[in-house]
Amino acid sequence: MLTTHNCGELTSKEAGTKVTLCGWVDTLRIQGKIGFLLLRDRYGITQVFLNPELSKEIATLPKESVVVIEGEVKKRPANQVKKEMSTGEIEVSATTIDIISRSETPLPIEITEETTTHIDKRLDYRFLDLRRNKIAAIFKIRSVIYALTNEFFIKEKFININTPKLTKSGVESGAEEFKIDYFGKKASLAQSPQVYKQMFVVAGLEKVFEIGPIFRAEKSHTTRHLTEFIGIDFEMGFIKDEHDVMDVIEKYFTFLLEKLIKQCAEELTVVGVKLNIPPKIPRLDMPEIKKLLKEKGKTIPENEDLDAEAEKLLGEIVKKKYHSDFVFTLGYPWAKRPFYHMRPENNPKVTRSFDLIYNGVEIATGAQREHRLEILEKQCKEKGIDLKKLEFYRDIFRYGVIPHGGVGMGLDRIVEQMLNLGNIREAILLPRDPERLTP
Ligand code: ATP
Ligand code: MG
Repeated sequence: MLTTHNCGELTSKEAGTKVTLCGWVDTLRIQGKIGFLLLRDRYGITQVFLNPELSKEIATLPKESVVVIEGEVKKRPANQVKKEMSTGEIEVSATTIDIISRSETPLPIEITEETTTHIDKRLDYRFLDLRRNKIAAIFKIRSVIYALTNEFFIKEKFININTPKLTKSGVESGAEEFKIDYFGKKASLAQSPQVYKQMFVVAGLEKVFEIGPIFRAEKSHTTRHLTEFIGIDFEMGFIKDEHDVMDVIEKYFTFLLEKLIKQCAEELTVVGVKLNIPPKIPRLDMPEIKKLLKEKGKTIPENEDLDAEAEKLLGEIVKKKYHSDFVFTLGYPWAKRPFYHMRPENNPKVTRSFDLIYNGVEIATGAQREHRLEILEKQCKEKGIDLKKLEFYRDIFRYGVIPHGGVGMGLDRIVEQMLNLGNIREAILLPRDPERLTP
């Protein structure tokens, strides 16, 4: 290693020690003959004292250049310690400075916490945008969410599966398919792992999950849609009804939030959010939801979905009434749900499905799936879908199939809503949308 320590770990305990640090020049202040350099790496910032000779040597070194510094750790007088610096109680008095890489100037984006650079430009230079503390913190949190998600599902005895992303043709709507040429055959990028999740539950794995990419040719320009996102999907067998699926989701979010609050305390402070552990998540049926919305002046016609405005409003209502950031919305109309959602015996106009709304935005859709082939075939007919074209999907239901259900959640949406980022593009390193294909 080039270094003996990082920029986040030195304390007065190391006073008198000779150390080598390496990092980016965050700030360089030359004051008369002497100077101070704030050296930054992913762990923090260390103040480096520059004697007159070194000050002169690097006086014109641009911000974001990379240097290796050898020096001695010195305790700073208490009255000089600035609270905002992570290694505020010490500084390193430099003996040598090696310039490893001189940054070009000017920088294409502003690398300051309160940047004024537009999001499009920031995303063009995402690798520089990440040098901002807040942006790096978002992705450290995302990484922990990813790891905790794996941990939770493994703990709950789900089996991790990886399903193909190159597929013959999507089972779901054709409109959102990215069509590709597969050695002369028509193929598309997977819009969801739906059929495969069901296949492997029925295979006998019983409980499966996948965290993987999902592709949707969404032409819309919203703050919640990407054309490539990461789905957290799970599917489980031997369920009594869709409430068994919701129970798992509820347990997942409690686990996730409890652990995050502990494991990412520092990063959450940097991003400026305080997370709440959900109380029992309310499960509201469509008639009740419509009543609550109507009281606030929003009417949802029969057979209609909740639009973005309704979700937002419902989020506010639930927060007030139930003190919950989350709400399950149940009983979506059959007209708005895919053919494989189960319908209750006594009401074919609705489905045994639900969404999960988090701080006013949908983050998940789930359902009990129809597993009885005759009914599934009838439902296909009603939706104008030819199940013969989905022969391998049909086969799943022919040789012993268990009642099952599951959900599709969006990792990027969860991160966006959890950290209150305002735009899903802030929650993913390199977003893909109708305009953005690089970097
Ligand atoms: P929406 O109504 O918001 O367009 P959807 O109902 O079409 O979403 P689903 O098919 O239910 O989406 O997908 C399951 C989950 O995947 C969603 O709840 C959401 O968290 C996430 N998701 C869906 N589409 C996108 C997208 N284009 N970009 C990012 N995440 C998405
Ligand atoms: Mg949905």
